Amino acid sequence: MRHIFRLYAEEGLSIRGIVELLTDEGVSTFSSDVTWAKSSVARILRNPVYVGTCHYNKRKRSGKQLVKRERDQWVEFKTLPIVDEELFAEAQRRLAENQDLRRREPKRFYMLTGMVFCAECERPYVAQTKKAGNNRLKTDATSYRHRMTEGHCLNRMISGSRLESIVWSEVLAFLLDPTNLGKGYQASLEQQQGTRTRGRAQLVELRKSAEKVEQKRRNLNAAYIDPEIGMRKSDYLAQKDQLDAEMKGTLSKIEAIERELAQLAPTMEPQDLEAFSAQVREAFRNRN
Ligand SMILES: [Zn+2]
Repeated sequence: MRHIFRLYAEEGLSIRGIVELLTDEGVSTFSSDVTWAKSSVARILRNPVYVGTCHYNKRKRSGKQLVKRERDQWVEFKTLPIVDEELFAEAQRRLAENQDLRRREPKRFYMLTGMVFCAECERPYVAQTKKAGNNRLKTDATSYRHRMTEGHCLNRMISGSRLESIVWSEVLAFLLDPTNLGKGYQASLEQQQGTRTRGRAQLVELRKSAEKVEQKRRNLNAAYIDPEIGMRKSDYLAQKDQLDAEMKGTLSKIEAIERELAQLAPTMEPQDLEAFSAQVREAFRNRN
């Protein structure tokens, strides 16, 4: 048990990784005829009994069944802890973090969205799914479309599995050549640098115009409360609404650019890149 907690909380293994390791090492489960499963490892990691907290009176009999009692009826008692509290707390933190990550993962992943362009009109093919319905299968859902109504050169649709497998084999061949990864990374760095420079320049301009709107707003307020100018309330409100809308638009543009800049990947050291490249090659060789 301690081993499992350490692998998860200290060595950062995934639950799947722990299952594989335990199976490889021939560690037996409680009932030795059963193999390790992700759910059993997860259950162990969540069980407070390992930090010495047990509960008595958790269930009651209801007819022929045992049902859970309300939490406040449980009786807590302490036993000898097997893992220390720090390790247990760290495991809980990671479990919560992973759950959070899983929740944020997109439900569907369109591998090539925005990446495949038509050779004729140079406009992108866009991913779409078949409408939900009884006839829809999980596997046939994705396709990539090209539509004249969206400004493309002709109406066309390619099934996702077909297109993705063609692209994937190209990608594979490309990745297996180590110099390509370096070149591709360099190109993407330059592209990112461009995005960063452009984004920062845009931010400077947008912040300036936000300040201007701010100033106009102050002038308007001053004019409105100045008895010598005598501005009508309806005029004031109309101008105020316009400035507020302008401000809102500017702020949301600023936010969008800041978000885009924050999402740029951090740069990698050359040796990290080399190690990554080797891992990729290794992984693919093992697969094939
Ligand atoms: Zn086209």
